Amino acid sequence: MNDQTRNPLLHLDHLPAFSRIHPQHVVPAVEQSLTEARATIAALVDRETSGWDDLFLPLETLADRLEQVWSPVSHLHGVADNAELRAVYNVCLPMLSEYQTEVGQNQDLFRALQRIADSEEMGDLPPEKRKILENALLDFRLSGVALGAEEKSRFKVIAAKLSALEARFSENVLDATQAWKKSVAEFADLSGLPDTAITLARETAEREGHDGWMLTLEFPSYLSVITFADDRDLRREVYEAYSTRSSDQGPNAGKWDNTAVIEEILALRDEKARLVGFSNYAEYSLVRKMAPSVEQVLDFLRDLAKRTKPIAKQELHELGAFAREQGDIIELEAWDISYYAEKLRQHRFAFSQEELRAYFPLPKVLSGLFYVVGQLFGLQVQQLENREIWHPEVNFYEIRDQDGEVVGRFFLDLYARSHKRGGAWMAECMTRKAFHGDVQLPVAHLVCNFSPPLAGRPSLLTHEEVLTLFHEFGHALHHLLTKVDYPSIAGINGVSWDAVELPSQLLELWCWEQEALSHISGHVDTGRPLPNTLLEKMRAARNFQSGMAIVRQLEFALFDLRIHGEYNASQGARVQQFLDEVRREVAVVIPPAFNRFAHSFSHIFAGGYAAGYYSYKWAEVLASDAFSRFEEEGIFNRNTGLQLQQTVLEQGGAREAMALFVAFRGREPTIDALLRHNGIGMDGVGSVV
Ligand code: ZN
Repeated sequence: MNDQTRNPLLHLDHLPAFSRIHPQHVVPAVEQSLTEARATIAALVDRETSGWDDLFLPLETLADRLEQVWSPVSHLHGVADNAELRAVYNVCLPMLSEYQTEVGQNQDLFRALQRIADSEEMGDLPPEKRKILENALLDFRLSGVALGAEEKSRFKVIAAKLSALEARFSENVLDATQAWKKSVAEFADLSGLPDTAITLARETAEREGHDGWMLTLEFPSYLSVITFADDRDLRREVYEAYSTRSSDQGPNAGKWDNTAVIEEILALRDEKARLVGFSNYAEYSLVRKMAPSVEQVLDFLRDLAKRTKPIAKQELHELGAFAREQGDIIELEAWDISYYAEKLRQHRFAFSQEELRAYFPLPKVLSGLFYVVGQLFGLQVQQLENREIWHPEVNFYEIRDQDGEVVGRFFLDLYARSHKRGGAWMAECMTRKAFHGDVQLPVAHLVCNFSPPLAGRPSLLTHEEVLTLFHEFGHALHHLLTKVDYPSIAGINGVSWDAVELPSQLLELWCWEQEALSHISGHVDTGRPLPNTLLEKMRAARNFQSGMAIVRQLEFALFDLRIHGEYNASQGARVQQFLDEVRREVAVVIPPAFNRFAHSFSHIFAGGYAAGYYSYKWAEVLASDAFSRFEEEGIFNRNTGLQLQQTVLEQGGAREAMALFVAFRGREPTIDALLRHNGIGMDGVGSVV
C-alpha cells in the first residue's frame, strides 16, 4: 500500500484531508490512479484461472481507491467551488468517464467474468457475490461490451461528452443563481418578511458591502420572498429571476443558458441508449430500477394524478377565493400561490411556518434526531474533533451501534453560503469495505442549505427543514449502517434508484409524531417543547394543499419520463412541448410563458435522476407502507426498528429491493398508506379540510 503515500489525494489516516487538497494536485493524482488501475486490470485478465475472489476483490479495491481520490474533489466542487478547482474538475471528468467506459468495454475482463458465471463455482456463490457478478455483467452490457470497434468508440465519446455537459448544466445553474442580487434601500419594501429573513437580507448586504438589505436567489432568501413579501411586484420580480435561471429568459437572459446543453444531453442520452439496444433512454434507465417497465411507471403516475387532480383543483379554487377576499387579485399568478397559501394556512389553522421556527433551533433538532435513531436502532451519535474540514461551519460525528462499536462517521455541512450548490443531499465520502482482514468504515457527507445562525442565535428551522434533515439522515443511515463488505453493493450502492429514497422518506415520518417531536423541538428562549395545541394545528395542516404539491411532483416526474422516453432525433428535445402537454394533463397551476423550469432541473440534467424522478413517488409508496408497520406496532418499537435495520438498512444492494421490502413488511407494498398519509381517499375523493 505504499502507493497511498505517493498519491497526494489518498490518505493514510482513512479520512480525506480537505484543507490540504490543492487544485494543482488533482489532475496528476487522478492520472496516477487511472494508470495504476489500468495496470491492475491488465494483470488481472492475464491470469488464466481466476475465481470470484481473485477477480472481484481486486476490482472492488480498485474502484474504492478511485472513489477515495475523486470523492473529496467532487465534494469540494459542490460545497466550496472556485475557478481553479472547477477547471481541474472539468479536466478530470472526461478522463474518468473514458476510463469507466474502457473498463465496461474490456472484452478480456468481460470474458473473465463470463468464465466465472459459467463455472461450477457459480452455483456455490453466496448471494452477495452472485449479485456483484450479475451487476457487473449488466454493466458490461450497458457499456456496450458487445459493440463493434467503431460503435464502441462512439459510445465512449458520448459518455465523456455527457459527463462534461452535465457538469456544465450544474455550473450554469450555480452561476446564474449567484449572479442575481437585489439591493433594497427602504425597509418598507420588505413588508411581510419574517425577522429571520430580514436579518439574513441585512447580513447579506453587510457582507457585500452595501447599506440596507440584499435579496438573492439562494433558497432561504428566495423562499422567504415568494412566501411572505406583501409587495406583489417584488414577488414577481424574484419569481421571474428564479424561474428563468440559466435560460434564454429573465434578467440574465442568454447568460449561462442551458437551452443548448439540454438539447445536446437529450440527444446523446438517446443515442447512447440506442447503441446498446434500447429504443429510448427511459428504457435504458429502468433496466437497473425496481419498476418493471416505462408503461407501469406511467400507469402509476397517471393513476395517482387521476386521484389527486380533483383535490388539487379544489384547493386552487379555495385559494383563489381566499385571495379575492383578501385583496384585489382577480387571477392568481404563479408568484401569488405560496404567498396566499401561507396566509390561508394562518387563517385556517392559526399558525405560520415561521412561528414554528422558534421551536426548532438546530442544536435541539440534531439532538432530537439522534434521540430518535437511538430509540429506533440503539445508535449513539457523538461529535468528534476534526480540523480537516472545508469550512468552519462544518462538524464531524461518529455513530456507534448498540454494542458501542463504531460503525461509521459523517460530516454535517448545513448552511447556505455562496459557492455552495443549492438543495440538500447525502454523498459518500468513504464506503464500507471489509476483506483481507481490513475494515474500512463508511463516512458520509450530509449537506443542506439552511439559514445560517443569525444575530448570535442558532439557526432556526421550519418544520419543512426539519423534514429535510431527517430525510438526508435516512440516506446517511443507509450508507453508514451497512453490513455489506463489498463497496459496490454496500450502503446505497447497487440499490435500485427508485428504492433508494425508502430510508430517507421513511425517517421523515417520525417528524409528525408527538413522541418524537417532544425531543426534536425546544423553544429557542424557553426550551419548552412544541405545545400540543401547536402540534395539533400542524397535524391538521399536514395535508393542507397536499393535492397541489403532489400534482407538481407528478408533473416533474411525467415530464422527465416522457422527455427521455419519447425523444425523437428529427424533432429535437421539444422541452416546451412536453412540459405543455404534461401540464395540461396533470397540473392545476400553469406557470407564465417566461418560466424556464427545465433549465435548472438539475436532478435530471445534472444528477442521477434522469428518467428516474418518479423514484420519489415510487419510494414514497414503500416508505408510507413501511411506516404503517410502525403505526401498528409502536413508532419506537425496538423490535420493529431492529428488523428495519436488519432487513433494509444493513443490506445495501446485496439483494433486490423488492425482496428486502417483503422481508421487512411481510408482503409486497400497497399504495393504501401513501393515500392515507396524504389524505387522499381510495376512490380519489380527498379529505380536504
Ligand atoms: Zn433523497
